[in-house]
Amino acid sequence: MVKARKRFGQNFLKDKNIIERIVRTIDPKPGEHLIEIGPGHGAITDRLLKSGCDLDVIEIDRDLAFSLRVKHPDLNIIESDVLKLDLSTLPKGKKIRVVGNLPYNISTPLLFRLFEHLDDIEDMHFMLQLEVVNRLTATHSTSDYGRLSIMSQIYCESQNMFTVPPESFTPRPKVMSAIVKLTPHRSSSENVNMVQLQTLLTKTFSMRRKTIRNALKGFITAQGLEEIGLDPMLRPENLDLKDYLNILAHFESRACTTS
Ligand code: SAM
Repeated sequence: MVKARKRFGQNFLKDKNIIERIVRTIDPKPGEHLIEIGPGHGAITDRLLKSGCDLDVIEIDRDLAFSLRVKHPDLNIIESDVLKLDLSTLPKGKKIRVVGNLPYNISTPLLFRLFEHLDDIEDMHFMLQLEVVNRLTATHSTSDYGRLSIMSQIYCESQNMFTVPPESFTPRPKVMSAIVKLTPHRSSSENVNMVQLQTLLTKTFSMRRKTIRNALKGFITAQGLEEIGLDPMLRPENLDLKDYLNILAHFESRACTTS
């Protein structure tokens, strides 16, 4: 067996019950098109293939891709860094389901890349650090709530399916993990200026202990906050997605009237 490479975040699943539970949660069906990111030695891959779904896998590690090719000569193995892959070349038509026990160091940038291609995606199931899953699924006014919660909620509904302890992997990670299911909202977020929203959230949550009156300086005044029904003494974590979209709309309407 190839030695685990730390730089590729390789923590291989060894617990058969957990693997079974993951595949049951994904529930792949014959004829569905799945893409697995980081198949590794094929712990999940083997079980997915048995379901009769159409499967493509993306693996960065040349040695792992090689042994997977020997094991599954008919499997389409894309040997590539998923962060560098042109996702617009994903097959059009039938929506894909994306799955993977992700290397933790690429999970957030990967999610943001996938959010740009949701028209082609049915749903996503990922193993992530529990801490990241908690941030994805957090509701406002809780300590895990922040930029990642709001950005993911604008695109998807996120559900923590179950947690997975370190002893289910080899080598053992230092932290707990969890399986998250992300289901894209079917209503469009096309009209939202995502770059502007990201800037707003980055600025606001870099001052999460301050009141929104101070944290949002430059975007909206205390009077503006009151106009849209928000108490300027609230903290950034007390506002939900709708509040942030209202702030953005207010900012943009002011920018239009002053330009
Ligand atoms: N799916 C296997 C399992 O559950 O045992 C392996 C999971 S391991 C946590 C992550 C896998 O993602 C490894 O096979 C690793 O080589 C691969 N990987 C890491 N970075 C990647 C990247 N940027 N693009 C594609 N695959 C990557």
